[in-house]
Amino acid sequence: MPELNETHDPTLTSWIDSANEAEADFPVQNLPLGVYTDPKIGVGKVGIAIGDKILDVTAARAKGVIGGVADDAAGACAGDTLNELMALGGRHWSALRATASRALRDDTEEGEAAQAVADEILLAQAGVAMRLPARIGDYTDFYSSIFHATNVGKMLRPDNPLMPNYKHIPIAYHGRASSIVASGETVKRPVGQTKAPDADHPSFGPSMAFDYETEIGFFVGPGNPLGQPVSMSEAEDHIFGLCILNDWSARDIQAWEYQPLGPFLAKSFASHISPWVVTMEALAPFRCGAYDRPDGDPAPLPYLSSSENEANGGFDVQIEVSIASEQMRDAGTPPQVLAVTNMQHLYWTIFQMLTHHTSNGCNLSPGDMMGTGTISGPTEDALGSVLEITKRGAEPVSLPSGEERRFLADGDELIMRAWCDADGARRIGFGDCRAVIEGA
Ligand code: MN
Repeated sequence: MPELNETHDPTLTSWIDSANEAEADFPVQNLPLGVYTDPKIGVGKVGIAIGDKILDVTAARAKGVIGGVADDAAGACAGDTLNELMALGGRHWSALRATASRALRDDTEEGEAAQAVADEILLAQAGVAMRLPARIGDYTDFYSSIFHATNVGKMLRPDNPLMPNYKHIPIAYHGRASSIVASGETVKRPVGQTKAPDADHPSFGPSMAFDYETEIGFFVGPGNPLGQPVSMSEAEDHIFGLCILNDWSARDIQAWEYQPLGPFLAKSFASHISPWVVTMEALAPFRCGAYDRPDGDPAPLPYLSSSENEANGGFDVQIEVSIASEQMRDAGTPPQVLAVTNMQHLYWTIFQMLTHHTSNGCNLSPGDMMGTGTISGPTEDALGSVLEITKRGAEPVSLPSGEERRFLADGDELIMRAWCDADGARRIGFGDCRAVIEGA
């Protein structure tokens, strides 16, 4: 795990005032990376979020604000994706973070020099369109929350909710990378083939059981060659950072199509991610133990087991999901919180997921993304999907507008936010992942 260093010091402040507000997602201790559309020239550029501003990494390099040990890393940010930087590995990521930190602090010479050219290296986040942070070659979605797996399993198999393999093997399916989109774009209600349990024949039409899945996505850094598995002790070196992932799901399409090969068109119509990737180093103060397996649960097989993973494989990341219907937005009613969950509820760590993924020799490439699977916690206020909250539509949710939801309606906006807050550390946030649902 990345070591704590001066960039994590909770007392650091920035010469950009908005970064110093207590609830700021992007204080100088965070420094997440993303890709935005340059409003002047219309092309994608790599930036670092700081307060309500974006540091243009290429402009900062040209002005000498970022260079030295970070020059290779800054040079890898010259294109319109993070893939090249992701491929470089932890030593370079760390050099870039250390250099950006010194340039954005208010107590360094580097900070003074950067402030003198602020107009040329900074732009406001407001009004700037964010893009996907990486060219995502492959996407795999796991199923790592035991609470989600149990809740969903109960609906299908009340007496035997958890499949016998669950506690031994991280379950996943190969998702569709092409339909991953950036926060802010709309999502269209999918059309597909469904069959109600009491119907004689399937039919084709708009999904009537449109749902979200609250997940965290993680990006692969350096890849591995085909045929060369990544071990648990190496897994950390292959992960660049985390983002919020909303894995939209059409439950009625899914229920009819999933046997025997798993999800297909119920998932591949769109998945939204938050635009800023929070690096592994920024997350170092918020690491915690892996899920505490109760007595009687099997120990992971040796290839998925390490004492380091047991001690530090988890992440204390809070994730909040809220909804604002069209009627609520028109009336100026704030979004209603549907759930607050936490990455600590994952039965498998992201390192076990990555190691398992490569255990057969499967190769990963920089920019590949993996999803944790829907993150549900043990309590009713920590459920990661509408399917679970409404018990598959049986118990509708009431909205402040007087409307009810069994599943999502056209015009609904779903907003996911995530943040980390721990004693002795500066709070950092992920920003948000949002989308409005359009009719089919
Ligand atoms: Mn999912």
